Amino acid sequence: MPSFTCKDIGMDCNLETSASNEADLEKKIGEHARSAHGIKTLDKDMWKKIKKVPR
Ligand SMILES: [Zn+2]
Repeated sequence: MPSFTCKDIGMDCNLETSASNEADLEKKIGEHARSAHGIKTLDKDMWKKIKKVPR
């Protein structure tokens, strides 16, 4: 199951989330970034960091 923590990308945040597939996870990360960090859109560099994180 793909998962993500904000700490993985250097955010000072305790979010840990997972989803049944990558598309759902990306949606969750996008929503969290917007609501918790005020990031409206995650740019390509950010996604590269996210994808690089070992799962
Ligand atoms: Zn966060």
